[in-house]
Amino acid sequence: MAKMFIAGESVDSVTGETYEVRNPVNGDVVDTVPKGNVDDARRAVDAAEAVFEEWSHTSAEERAGLLFKAAELVEAERKSLAELLTREQGKPFQEASGELEHFNHGIDFYAGLASKVRGAQVPLPAKNAYGMVVRKPLGVCGAIVPWNFPITLMGTKVGPALAAGNTVVVKPASSTPLTTIRIIELMNQAGIPKGVLNVITGPGGVVGEELISNPKVRRIAFTGESATGKHVAEVACGDFKRVTLELGGSDPMIVCEDADIQKAITGAMVGRFWNAGQACLAVKRLYVFDKLFDEFVSGLVGKVSRYEVGDGMTRAEKPKIRMGPLHTAAQRDEIESQVKDAIDRGAKVLVGGARPEGSQYEKGHYYLPTILVDVANDSRVVREETFGPVLPIFRVSSLDEAIEKANGSIYGLGSSIWTKNLDNIETAIDRIQAGNVWVNSLHYGYDELPFGGVKASGFGREHGPEALDYYLEPKGVVITR
Ligand code: NDP
Repeated sequence: MAKMFIAGESVDSVTGETYEVRNPVNGDVVDTVPKGNVDDARRAVDAAEAVFEEWSHTSAEERAGLLFKAAELVEAERKSLAELLTREQGKPFQEASGELEHFNHGIDFYAGLASKVRGAQVPLPAKNAYGMVVRKPLGVCGAIVPWNFPITLMGTKVGPALAAGNTVVVKPASSTPLTTIRIIELMNQAGIPKGVLNVITGPGGVVGEELISNPKVRRIAFTGESATGKHVAEVACGDFKRVTLELGGSDPMIVCEDADIQKAITGAMVGRFWNAGQACLAVKRLYVFDKLFDEFVSGLVGKVSRYEVGDGMTRAEKPKIRMGPLHTAAQRDEIESQVKDAIDRGAKVLVGGARPEGSQYEKGHYYLPTILVDVANDSRVVREETFGPVLPIFRVSSLDEAIEKANGSIYGLGSSIWTKNLDNIETAIDRIQAGNVWVNSLHYGYDELPFGGVKASGFGREHGPEALDYYLEPKGVVITR
């Protein structure tokens, strides 16, 4: 049985209660974990608070060294960690391994930045006085992580938090705690002092709720659904915690008439169907210029038919590409109901639109990659986040029309434009309401660049040196001689 990790020790919940983590492929139990409660969350917060002062005064070089070492240990166990991630999450092994690689890259990135934090020395109008800006860590940080990318989204919080000298309590999604627990054990083995990095398991409404309301927690980084994020912000801001929210998205992709059509087709395919479409930054609405619409759509339908759903632990035979199941039955129900709504409003299914047939699929939450055209603008797949392998494609006749439609969403996370025309590129960068614009590029969260949203996609940024700013408080100092 996996355990929580608090104050440097693997522990059960105070009640001794547990719950099962199940494989989305067949419903088999992967492992059991403690079902933590409020007292467990408090234990972890207290442990993190107790060591904050000492940890925050370690040298940046020391923190960097520990983070580099932690990434090395995770890399050494990458294969077995990727297998565990595949079994608890459902994604294909290659994608799980890539996620771990991305995690390590991010930890290395913040390890490198730990010693590059700078303040300022400021001339002042007062006589014989000057000002300084020093930057101090905040204290205990809560990292609340969803199930779609459990490891990278944990790393984008833990990396900058620890590099900046904060202590952390991680709350993974209830359905994906196992790989996280093992990684946090490894990071502690790397020498991160007891209590600095903890993980608690249990229901979000109980242990997560305690994290967001406990006054000893000074910072919450949350990734998940917009409605949960709104609640997290309301509670956490109630006692003035620093909060960042990385929420849902409905990323538009615009393909102009001068686009490199093959590259754009690949961008749409990977951008939408990677991780079975369960990504906040996935391409969720595709706007294609009239002139190349038919060629683009038939090319994409052809490519998408290469996907073969199945167990992520086995590779599909080339030229097929493996796609795993959806993470939960509820997730698939939601996708089916969104597709039905689109069809009821006139949409045509060009490929997919159903569960795969065959007894081998009966136990998993499989859904075929799906492409829809003639989709009404008031359909749920346009208005809501579609967290699964469904892509609605729309015909547009100008960039103005494409941008207007792209912006017609409550969300504003990512977006992309595919064109060789510099005017189009500048217009898209300027006018699309989103935290990120990719130009002729796959929707991907680079560690080097800030990532986050506007509108209902949340606020604050993860990734990039910018993320460190959310883990450091500037302190103004005046020195008079
Ligand atoms: P949630 O927003 O409910 O969960 C995200 C994290 O928040 C989990 O760790 C969850 O814990 C925790 N949590 C839940 N309630 C609270 C609370 N009251 N206080 C503190 N933490 C809490 O997302 P779901 O996993 O339920 O997914 C629902 C939908 O959200 C998906 O179908 C998808 O549409 C969207 N989603 C979007 C993501 C994105 O990146 N844009 C990521 C994940 C989901 P627990 O798992 O224990 O409930």
